[in-house]
Amino acid sequence: MFKYLQLWRVVRGRYYCLQMKHDAGVRTVAMKNFQLSNNPMVELEKITEREVCGKCHHARKFYCYDCNVATSSAGKVIPKLELPVKVVVIQDAREVKGKNTACHAKIIANQDVEIFTYPDIPDYINKDNSVLLYPTDGCESVGEAIKSRSDNNKKLEYVVFIDSTWQKSKRIINNEVISTLPRIRISQHKTLFWRNQKFDIHFLSTIEAIHYFFRDYHEATNQGSYEGQYDDLLYLFLYQYEVIQRRYKNNTELTFKTALRDDYIK
Ligand SMILES: [Zn+2]
Repeated sequence: MFKYLQLWRVVRGRYYCLQMKHDAGVRTVAMKNFQLSNNPMVELEKITEREVCGKCHHARKFYCYDCNVATSSAGKVIPKLELPVKVVVIQDAREVKGKNTACHAKIIANQDVEIFTYPDIPDYINKDNSVLLYPTDGCESVGEAIKSRSDNNKKLEYVVFIDSTWQKSKRIINNEVISTLPRIRISQHKTLFWRNQKFDIHFLSTIEAIHYFFRDYHEATNQGSYEGQYDDLLYLFLYQYEVIQRRYKNNTELTFKTALRDDYIK
């Protein structure tokens, strides 16, 4: 009898614990797969007013997508990360800034991320110190690229991402510098991105691609282990994902501008 009582207490304790987490919005659909430093559905939701961006003076809610900086209130809760390889993002000038996700990386890992607008390309990237994330037949995985570089005593300093739609990226890919960079691929993951729904489910947003690159990198340099070290890169992305999920779940009458998969809203 005592045993059952003990067991009941454990089960009841776990239930209350889960219930509390659920109430705090911690166990949301997507977030349970990632380890964030704090819960944006709680922390960012406390911020209700827009603030004037210190650089361009536009009113912004959490961050300025023109200047790639957080507002002072959001800056106190958005996690900060250091990255083991510098990120270079080459953006197509026609990309809509307010809708792209590359700026999340700059806000969260400010010292290690630079964003350029094509045809502006940094003069310090070359085939010896950089790789380009652009999957092509037979290209190396992140782990293979790290191994072959260490075998040849070459340090991987920069990873280049192209932030553009698939169709427009061709122009950037054919650039005289970019076309010489060794191409790599990341392991396959399903996207949560709301903008890419009419494409393949594995067609990631830029911030997802950056996150999964560092996940693969960490696994390749730590005997396959990964414990969420770079999940904070998805902090703002997951917040936006959850806001969209909530909005469409609560308003079933709403229609989405882009073609959503039937199962997108969970
Ligand atoms: Zn600004």
